[in-house]
Amino acid sequence: MLKVAAEPKYWEPSIETMSPEEMRKLQLKRLKAQLRYVYERSPFYRRKFDEAKVKPDDLKTLEDLRKFPFTTKMDIRQYAYPHGGEIICVPRSECPYFHCTSGTTGKPTVMYYTRKDQENWTNIMARALYGTGVRKGDIMMNIYGYYLFTGGLGFHYGAARVGATVIPWGIGRTEALIEALRDYKATVITGTPSYDYYIGELVKKMGIDPEKELSLRVSIPGAETWTEEMRRRIEEWLGLKAHGGGARMMYGLTEMYGPGMATECEYERGMHVWVDYYYPEVIDPDTGEPLGPDEQGELVLTNLVAEAMPLIRYRTRDITRLIYDPCECGRKAFPRMPGILGRVDDAFSYKGTKIYPSAIAERLMKFDEVQEFQIVFDKTVMPYRLLVKVEVPADKRSPQLKEAILNEIDKAVFVRPELEFVDVGSLPRWEGKAKRVVKLESA
Ligand code: ZN
Repeated sequence: MLKVAAEPKYWEPSIETMSPEEMRKLQLKRLKAQLRYVYERSPFYRRKFDEAKVKPDDLKTLEDLRKFPFTTKMDIRQYAYPHGGEIICVPRSECPYFHCTSGTTGKPTVMYYTRKDQENWTNIMARALYGTGVRKGDIMMNIYGYYLFTGGLGFHYGAARVGATVIPWGIGRTEALIEALRDYKATVITGTPSYDYYIGELVKKMGIDPEKELSLRVSIPGAETWTEEMRRRIEEWLGLKAHGGGARMMYGLTEMYGPGMATECEYERGMHVWVDYYYPEVIDPDTGEPLGPDEQGELVLTNLVAEAMPLIRYRTRDITRLIYDPCECGRKAFPRMPGILGRVDDAFSYKGTKIYPSAIAERLMKFDEVQEFQIVFDKTVMPYRLLVKVEVPADKRSPQLKEAILNEIDKAVFVRPELEFVDVGSLPRWEGKAKRVVKLESA
């Protein structure tokens, strides 16, 4: 097993040990410069600011940012595709790097990177990976796709900078992957929580002892919602705790370079947001008003040092909250997000209640008997039907278990759906992001 040096504790000590006051000063300085920069260089932002009757100099304090207009995904689709359009702040020829979203629900969201952006992002990823416990000498199995998506290359660049050896596996061939984990003695694995979960299930099925035959210490599942129960199972099934590590969340989005924007430290108490690069706000998704610390709402992000396509008040559609109580790691200036609690767009109305499927998921995963689940919202029938399918082994099913699960769901979302036990292995498994919510609508 790889020995991990206890020190140094931080990748960039001068930044990571800043006091909250010092950080606010740095943020204000960077924010002022960034607002001026986009106003001067991006026709899109000049127009948006003019329409909202704000000038960069109207920002005197960080709180003044709320006077500035939001940027949406629609804006990027409409005004940046395909070569940066009105949003990009530099000639496209200054951008050797490019990524975009898959564009499954419209035009892709494109992102261009100058050399400095690329350097920033690599630094952010290195800091994030180091924070999760990755060190020089580690062997990282990177199971994100190496294509348009930022996950594959983002992790690759960052891990290489930390000094880990990266195996660029990509997606799929799960049984071969597990053999490779064993043979290469990989110590770090990436992936989505649902994929890591699936790998864990398969490790068990293949009769491999994760503590003795695998060497995995850190897994960094990102890109989707998970629950503490899923974390516990991934840690156990992959043998992470036994090797002195754990499963640590990471978050990011293409519009903000990619992964790495926020990450958990070894204490696993929510993801530290790298607020020297990104200024976070949490707003009420319906009114757009900023919310206070610990209040749950939509995450809004502003780039503080980006060069090609800095975004101001970008609405992520992700639901979370910001926690400011101190973390044992000592990163005092970096608030934490407990995870992505849902997507604004995933919410649906059922019997007059707004329901976030992730709230149901969180409750389901509390039950050891539940191995997978699917939430079906059927709008093709009247009244609408909300059905939750849970995989439970036949010998563990009982009316009492059903009742206990329904009570938990009721506590979270104040409705009792229909609940159906299904056979283990009958619901889909995921090599990328899970799609556990199915919405049926009439054509
Ligand atoms: Zn911490």
